[in-house]
Amino acid sequence: MDMLPAQPPSATLERWLTGPRFARLPARTARDAAPALSFEFFPPKTEALEAQLWSCVRRLEPLCPRFVSVTYGAGGSTQARTHATVERIVRETSLTPAAHLTCVGAPRGEVDDVARAYWDAGVRHIVALRGDAPNMGTYEPHPGGYEYASDLVAGLRRVADFEITVAAYPETHPTALHPDSDLDNLRRKLDAGAVRAITQYFFDADVFLRFLDRCLAAGVTAPIVPAIMPVSNFAQAQKFSAACGASVPDWMISLFEGTDDDPETRRVVAAVIAAEQVRVLQANGVDEFHFITLNRPDLTYSIAHVLGVRPGK
Ligand SMILES: Cc1cc2nc3c(=O)[nH]c(=O)nc-3n(C[C@H](O)[C@H](O)[C@H](O)COP(=O)(O)OP(=O)(O)OC[C@H]3O[C@@H](n4cnc5c(N)ncnc54)[C@H](O)[C@@H]3O)c2cc1C
Repeated sequence: MDMLPAQPPSATLERWLTGPRFARLPARTARDAAPALSFEFFPPKTEALEAQLWSCVRRLEPLCPRFVSVTYGAGGSTQARTHATVERIVRETSLTPAAHLTCVGAPRGEVDDVARAYWDAGVRHIVALRGDAPNMGTYEPHPGGYEYASDLVAGLRRVADFEITVAAYPETHPTALHPDSDLDNLRRKLDAGAVRAITQYFFDADVFLRFLDRCLAAGVTAPIVPAIMPVSNFAQAQKFSAACGASVPDWMISLFEGTDDDPETRRVVAAVIAAEQVRVLQANGVDEFHFITLNRPDLTYSIAHVLGVRPGK
């Protein structure tokens, strides 16, 4: 009888048995509470974008987020549009809005007036930021303006009894002198009266979990809510990430490789990446998530579903 030639190990079942074993991530059970969500929108520039924003708001509204936030353009460029969007959310939806507000390009009195107008319109939550110079130039505080976000938080506390959220940077703010001084800055913002921080987005769950360890070691105990940005336009996300100091891991580059002209595959890849990211965080006990929706609801809706969030609950 002819003997079969010896198979190299790479052609046998053996090759599946020698590597490490990974258990599946624990699934959420019916006993576990669904996480608390918040959603971020940007104020639209055109009628078409306006329609897109409102269809996004309506699609996500039934998920009963704790709040929805509306960004403020670089250099304060969207002040009127941010205000109009936030006011419309108050008027026409069941959602609780949070208005982003920055220190850029205005004296303190003017920033205080914007905050007062929000208070008068029924807005009780501000996301207080320093902001960036227009076109990502070097930031210079306005003469007579608030210099840093911590100064803005203190100023807002003098205007009214706002709930105040600030920004945190798991990978350190790009212009911070040192990671520790950036953490000191976060503590200063919380000491000035903020009640939580939302992070810059990140893609490796580990980055966030290590940051939580550093926060706790530095005595920060306020909730640090991870920002999740489901990426559907990878090229644009790479550009944006380079500017804001969020690293794009090699594994993510290789997952998106070859999808530039293939939106369908890109969407599935994006969904898998974001779903895995939130499931790892959830398995590590994280139960609050802030989604940067980019005014597109579908990925956020699906990933919220994966997290156990259902309409009306
Ligand atoms: C969740 C989130 C939402 C955002 N939303 C917007 C938005 O709507 N509009 C917008 O324009 N931008 C937004 N940004 C971007 C943000 O404005 C920029 O990252 C900006 O460069 C820093 O803002 P900050 O509030 O973190 O600033 P700060 O907390 O003031 O920190 C800015 C830098 O200064 C350093 N610093 C602080 N205090 C001192 C001090 N006393 N001495 C020396 N250094 C100091 C810090 O370490 C840091 O490097 C957002 C960012 C995040 C994470």
